[in-house]
Amino acid sequence: MPGALVLASRNPHKLREVRRLLAPFALDVEPLPDGVELPPEDGDTFADNALPKARAAAVALGRPAIADDSGIEAAALDGRPGVRSARYAGEGASDAENLDKLLREAPVGSPLRYVCALAYVEPEGTERVFVGDCRGRLVGRPRGKRGFGYDPAFVPDERPDDRRDGERTMAELEDDEKDAISHRGRAVRALARWLSER
Ligand code: IMP
Repeated sequence: MPGALVLASRNPHKLREVRRLLAPFALDVEPLPDGVELPPEDGDTFADNALPKARAAAVALGRPAIADDSGIEAAALDGRPGVRSARYAGEGASDAENLDKLLREAPVGSPLRYVCALAYVEPEGTERVFVGDCRGRLVGRPRGKRGFGYDPAFVPDERPDDRRDGERTMAELEDDEKDAISHRGRAVRALARWLSER
């Protein structure tokens, strides 16, 4: 197992989650150093966007790198925003603006799916992509202060436990509860399993 991996991302939320998810496997995650250029996210699939980011970091740094491309798919919108989740309301849009647009366009209670493609690249050429997903539904009124992005409006189908009444959104779950069912949690655990079996 490599002792540390570089995460090819400028998103502090992702760094925090991936670091937390890999800690139980004794894998450290380091932020991308300043000056490493990441390619534009212009692919049609999550994997098409994740791989070039991990490749760019692995080649620039000469070390194994990982990159996550993720987003949310609304069934009522034929899978949109999908790979455009981070810029759904336009280039540079905030999380709140993107979420507002989803709430305007998709019906309350309609099915959603988070998807995460996690790419692992070694400078010598080994490449793998691990995909995880998490299904849920749209709530009309966002709630919760944890998580990020679309979490306040996403109620997961899979309940992490029944410690509390009511339907909690992803932004109301504790970190360990989100990690157990999240798209990113599933993709990261698949990577950790593969690394430990090599
Ligand atoms: P990208 O992978 O940098 O293109 O950004 C993915 C976008 O999808 C984020 O900016 C969020 O809007 C959304 N997203 C991805 N994962 C999550 C999550 O775990 N919770 C909430 N929103 C997410």
